Amino acid sequence: MKQTKSLIPTHIAALHAYVPGEQPKIAGLIKLNTNENPYPPSPRVLKAVREAVDERLRLYPDPTSSGLRSKLAKLHGCAPENIIVGNGSDELLALAVRTFVDRAPTGSFAWRKSASAVVQYLYPGYSLYPVLADINRSIRNPVRLEADFSLPDRRSFKRDKSWLLDAALTFVTTPNAPSGRGYSNKDLQALCHALSGIVVLDEAYVDFAEDDALGLALKNRNVLVARTFSKAYSLCFQRVGYMVGSAPLIAALDKTRDSYNVNGLGQIAAIATLDDLPYYRKNFQKVIKTRDRLTHDLTALGCFVFPSQTNFLLVRPPALDASEWLAKLRDRKILVRWFDQQGIRDCLRITVGTDAEADALLNAVKKIL
Ligand SMILES: *Cc1c(COP(=O)(O)O)cnc(C)c1O
Repeated sequence: MKQTKSLIPTHIAALHAYVPGEQPKIAGLIKLNTNENPYPPSPRVLKAVREAVDERLRLYPDPTSSGLRSKLAKLHGCAPENIIVGNGSDELLALAVRTFVDRAPTGSFAWRKSASAVVQYLYPGYSLYPVLADINRSIRNPVRLEADFSLPDRRSFKRDKSWLLDAALTFVTTPNAPSGRGYSNKDLQALCHALSGIVVLDEAYVDFAEDDALGLALKNRNVLVARTFSKAYSLCFQRVGYMVGSAPLIAALDKTRDSYNVNGLGQIAAIATLDDLPYYRKNFQKVIKTRDRLTHDLTALGCFVFPSQTNFLLVRPPALDASEWLAKLRDRKILVRWFDQQGIRDCLRITVGTDAEADALLNAVKKIL
């Protein structure tokens, strides 16, 4: 082959890919780093998946996840046309960028005039959003949350120059990750109203919160709510998520997805999950109880703990740098997450596990202090 220019496009060569939390191969670690649910799926879900493993694996799955979409529609009081299912909500977040956001114009240009190519997101938030913008050759526009992770003041939308009110797409993690902060529907509605592009409300942790914003997706033509079976429904392994929104937005996403984007066992597991919601609601209550106790006990040990509406805590630990805490906890077989990012570098993000895992964490913190 002749040596010519690189086979890899420049934007991919320069891409900083998303870094997922570690999935350790060593046994015996207490895993509080990726916000998985510490409780197993319902026995009914395990049974449904087991019973589905036979010669049917030879066949393609339902291409439109119709059974699952009907059940979700019933649950949320909408039509199946208001729902799209994905291979995890991550797939749908990527699909939304691909479907609704243009590529940045080449050459010199005024980016504020290229709103159709802008992926806007509140920062800090889910660190996948800027990566999705980069992959799509779009323009990133991070808008900073306040220091306490609350939404920027509503009255400042028009004044604050960091907002691009006509950005093609805006991502909001609500409740927020990595801070755990919850937002009121009133504030979210004001935001969705002020923005003329599409707003994706990423509700990955909503089952641990006091409020949910699903109604905003059914009321506003520009709003999509993203949900996942991963975190609250103990189903990370199966990769099932969905979006709810107006029929035209859902139809546009449906045009651009892969034909068999949701695997068959995932569809079966998610349907069985919806048939046993009381089992999960009990687990949410357990996680919330452990979360509130952990907040109290870590505070008593000198940590600053941000109020959380999720299944994790953002914790500013005392005495040592957060990165040193990360290493020292790992020495004691406890995995947590540290983000080398502006505004949260002095904090650890700690998943709320079982009560026994919370006790192990508290003991380790005491020993390190
Ligand atoms: C975990 C997470 C997701 C991805 O969930 P999957 O359905 O497992 O892809 C999306 N958004 C946020 C904020 C998350 O924390």
